Amino acid sequence: MRASPARLRSTGTSPFATLANNEQKSEADWRAELTPEQFRVARQAGTEPPFSGEHNARTAVGTYRCVCCKSELFQSDAKFDAGCGWPSFFEPASLETVTTHSDVSLGMERIEVRCAKCEAHLGHVFPDGPDPTGQRFCINSVVLTFEAGD
Ligand SMILES: [Zn+2]
Repeated sequence: MRASPARLRSTGTSPFATLANNEQKSEADWRAELTPEQFRVARQAGTEPPFSGEHNARTAVGTYRCVCCKSELFQSDAKFDAGCGWPSFFEPASLETVTTHSDVSLGMERIEVRCAKCEAHLGHVFPDGPDPTGQRFCINSVVLTFEAGD
């Protein structure tokens, strides 16, 4: 009997498959799901015009979620009126819900804020916020959905 050569068998699954999740969508997927303005801000790090967003002046109690992946990002009890024209929060819903990244575009050094789950661009965080954190998360309305609650 002849020994058959050892063969690498393909199982059809990538060893990296466990790293993927449902939010790892292609640019084309996002373009199809989002409005052009949502896509421009969330996936291309754009900025909506100040005082244009539907959540800027909102004071209702509730939860703000990522427009891309519905992850809970901010709570209304951390929202304050910064007068800057964008919804502002002194802290995210939890430390795991957003990530921060150095952004040196436009000749400025800023800290970009992204959704931790789907990497949507949300806005920037500045060190001029109120107590208790002293931070101002300056977030585009167009990347947030609001869910009223208590
Ligand atoms: Zn997201």
